[in-house]
Amino acid sequence: MPRTLLLGAFALCALISCTHNSSQQKSQSLTAKPTPVSKDTTATEPLDSLDAFGLEVDKFEVDEYTIQRNESLYLILDNLDFSPQEIYSISEEAKNIIDPKKMKPGQPYYTYSKGGSDSSAALAHLVWQPNSMEYVVFDWQQDSLEIYKAARPLFTQTAVTTGEIENSLYQTISHNGGSPMLAHKLSTVFAWQIDFFSIRSGDTFKTLYEERYVDDQFFGVGDLLAAQIKHRGKMFRAYYFSKGDFEGYYTEEGESVQRALLKAPFEYDHRISSPFSKNRMHPTLNRRRPHNGVDYAAPSGTPILSTGQGVVQRAGYYGGAGNMVEIKHNKTYETTYMHMRAFADGVHPGAHVEQGQVIGYVGTTGRSTGPHLHYEVSRNRKAINPLTMDLPSSESIPDSLMADFEQVRDTLDEQLNEKENEQEQENPVLTYTDNATL
Ligand SMILES: [Zn+2]
Repeated sequence: MPRTLLLGAFALCALISCTHNSSQQKSQSLTAKPTPVSKDTTATEPLDSLDAFGLEVDKFEVDEYTIQRNESLYLILDNLDFSPQEIYSISEEAKNIIDPKKMKPGQPYYTYSKGGSDSSAALAHLVWQPNSMEYVVFDWQQDSLEIYKAARPLFTQTAVTTGEIENSLYQTISHNGGSPMLAHKLSTVFAWQIDFFSIRSGDTFKTLYEERYVDDQFFGVGDLLAAQIKHRGKMFRAYYFSKGDFEGYYTEEGESVQRALLKAPFEYDHRISSPFSKNRMHPTLNRRRPHNGVDYAAPSGTPILSTGQGVVQRAGYYGGAGNMVEIKHNKTYETTYMHMRAFADGVHPGAHVEQGQVIGYVGTTGRSTGPHLHYEVSRNRKAINPLTMDLPSSESIPDSLMADFEQVRDTLDEQLNEKENEQEQENPVLTYTDNATL
């Protein structure tokens, strides 16, 4: 049984959220990055007679349905009493505009009919809503059927979340009613500075970020604009800045918070004796195997540097790899160093190493034909070519942009502090939606 709905209620929600958010307009205009679709308070106030889909709700009886298991466009139209011939021509027309396979169980659709009849002749519109933002209208009010896609306005407001970490960042943010996406973004921004596995009780964080809404419905976390984490008594700050060639997160001094890996694990010149290859003739095994790293020929005893700061995962003798060190730099990147003659002092599992720190010395331990270093970089546990990999830029803000950066930074700081004081109000109950696109 269809449920009759007054879609005017949607319009009312839109109005309420407008007023509710108008106080956010000022801070929104000051954010460092323009939002994809900004909310214009006047544009989203619907005309009295138009509903959330821009249709004249007063003229029709509106029924809401949900797509059932195995229900296709064909069956939906069949249930609305269209003839097989008509269904065929509607489906053909629809294929040019939408992918009918994206019609999934649980998605709502609405019929707008005249005279309270369910028959196809009385049908004026059919609206399919694959997600809370996008919708598709089948319009029979014109001379011929018109099918069009549209989107309800997405608007953005800034919000602040603060907290003291109890167990993990994820748990704390979720516990405070925040999105897990926010925890993810925060850990990505600070990935080169903070080992989130070592985060502990008493660490605190404060973030300024965008929240996206469609009407009054939460549609996901937008960009992270500024963040602070106090970790083991030390304060880490990051500000989003974008101008010219510079885009990313920077410390209060304008240094990039992202740390690229060193180009090579040596201080001086080095010669590559075997490149990264998916299909190389192995020198001792005499068969084709992928070479997941780069070999550097260097005299025995040459100091090997860690290409990034991180935590030693493994340091020991591992068969063909010989004396090997594996360093985890963050959630994403790890580097591995093989065939070492010896490890540097203090290099053992669990030890923290700085970028450029000597971790060992070139040797020929394990399966090796002469002194060399086999160096591997992996991204998400998959070996990548260290010579061609794409790493985040780690350049600082140049003097020429420093004044612009300082202005953005100070504005973001103000918002962080201002919003924190506003947080006395209760947080709205947020519903998470799947923001898949058509
Ligand atoms: Zn190798």
